[in-house]
Order: sequence, then structure tokens, then C-alpha cells
Amino acid sequence: MKAFYAEEQKRHDPKTFLSSGAAKLNPEKPERIGRLLAGALSAGCTIERPRNHGLGPVAAVHTPEYLDFLEHIYARWQRIEGASEEVIPNIHPIARNGSYPASAVGQAGYHMADTACPISGETWQSALWSAWSAIEATEAVMAGAPAAYALCRPPGHHAFADVAGGFCFINNSAVAAQVLRKQAARVAVLDVDLHHGNGTQGIFYARPDVLTVSLHADPVRFYPFFWGHADERGEGAGLGYNFNLPLPRKSADAAFLEALEVAFQRIRAFSPDALVVALGLDAFEGDPFGGLSVTTPGFSRIGETIAKLGLPTVIVQEGGYLCDELGDNLTAFLTAFGGKAR
Ligand SMILES: [Zn+2]
Repeated sequence: MKAFYAEEQKRHDPKTFLSSGAAKLNPEKPERIGRLLAGALSAGCTIERPRNHGLGPVAAVHTPEYLDFLEHIYARWQRIEGASEEVIPNIHPIARNGSYPASAVGQAGYHMADTACPISGETWQSALWSAWSAIEATEAVMAGAPAAYALCRPPGHHAFADVAGGFCFINNSAVAAQVLRKQAARVAVLDVDLHHGNGTQGIFYARPDVLTVSLHADPVRFYPFFWGHADERGEGAGLGYNFNLPLPRKSADAAFLEALEVAFQRIRAFSPDALVVALGLDAFEGDPFGGLSVTTPGFSRIGETIAKLGLPTVIVQEGGYLCDELGDNLTAFLTAFGGKAR
């Protein structure tokens, strides 16, 4: 199986992170890439560099003002006397029905959901290359590969059309789904990350052509808190095309696989032409976030059951943080999916 990744994705190196108000080191570190690359190689993947795909496919799911913000906010921020090194919001609109602010500080609050996505001088390029890896994997699948893996980092599934959040800037899974739509009438996005794929849900919430399904730790007491509940089913023409399966904290393999079967029933009923897997590995029992308790053999089973759907599949890396087994968990998923065989 082909895997895609560009060196530029390593440059984004966020420092700031607040956890329950306490300043901590940001866990979305560039070192994740080395572990994930090793995991993909162990699964038999060949690693290729994506091409520059420009802004078009990214702009298909993000607003012009948001992309302009991501590209230029760091330079603007540096001109504020006494400002932090990284762009971090300190004010947010209560509701986004007021005016669009002109100031860098106001726009940071408008376009950034939380403090987990600080923007440095390298963020824009790293996020773009991450999206281009997703696009390249998508094009490989559109050209006939049964599956392809995009080593996307920074990740994407918490990014809305015009809001960054939770380590995410450009929604790589949404970009992949939208590119697939050129060929596929119906696309399903299956998000197995520990955290609800709120950005992906938001982007496709009113659309019936992209089914969004997410399994995750119950947000009633877990990030992203405000989204991911079972009663969020879509709106307008998209009503019924969003499906959330929140799981109790510390749910292990059996509960996860059981929920996955429920997800498959919805996906089969939708009858998609292609699938995007938003592959977070942070549901792992040893992940620093500690929200769910999936094991390494569990990721093999998850991969095997998803592969059995038999759909052309783009696998997009989402979360999964530094722990000894991070690479092994990726190997388990990709190998089960056919890493060596394909
Ligand atoms: Zn996550």
C-alpha cells in the first residue's frame, strides 16, 4: 500500500497547551511522525512524497477568510508589541453572529476554538503539506488502489470550515472526502479517533452526499465537549447523515468493535462509493489521553473489519500521541487492512 508524507510536515512544532487550565507541553509533537513512519514501513507501505496541490482542494472545504487568516496571522501577530511567540487566542465571541473583527487578536479568537492549536511561522506550510498528503492518497485510490494511507500531521478532524481547534488547522479527512466526490456520488467518513470528529461533522452537517460517522469517548465529560452527542444527526438536507456513537470512558476492544458494527449498519445502508477512515490511534489504552482502552490487537481487528467493507478507502492519520506502541498500533491497523498484501 502506498503511504504519503512530506518532510515539511515536521516543521510545525507547537509549544503551548493548556490542560484544565494548567500550562503543559503540547503533545502534538513532530516526533509522532517518526513513530508513524516506522509503523507504516513495518506494515509494508512504500512512502512517497505528495505533490503541491495548491489551495483549490483545501478551499473546497474551508472559507477564504479562514485560509487567509492561517496564512498570514503569524506575521501579523509578530507586529503586536509584547505578544506571545505563538498565536494563541485570549478572547472568543459568545456567538458568531456579530461582526468579523479586523484585529489579529479578534480574528484569533474568531478562528481558533481553543488553546491547543497555537500557530507558529511554520504552521501554515506544515498544515498545507499535511493536506496535500491526504489529497495524494485520495488520488491514488481514485486511480484504482484499494486503499492508501496519508500520514497527516498536523491532524485535521477538529478543524471546521473556518475554525482551528484541538491541534488541527486544515481538515485533511474532509479535504479527502471532498476530492473523492469528483468520482464518487456518495462518500462515508468513519472517524475512529478517541475524540469526536467535530470539524468534519460541522463541514458536512447539512449535506446528504457525505455521511459522517464518529466513534469516540462520550463528550459529556471529554473533549470536544460541545459536539459528539448521539442526538446530533445533521440538519436540513443533511438530516440523518451524521451519526455519533459516544462510548463510556475506558471502553475496551469489545465495546469498540460492537459500536463499529452499529456504524457499519449505517454505512451499508448509505451505500457509499468510497470511504475515508479518520484514523486516530489515541483510543489506545496506553495513549497519554487515556480516554478509551483499545489494545494493539484491537487495532488489528478494527482494521480487519473496516477492510471487509470492501470499499475504496483513504486512511487519513488523525490523533495518537507519544507512547511506545504508537507505531505498532499503526502497523496493526494497516497490516490488517492489507498493508503487505496490497
Ligand atoms: Zn484525538
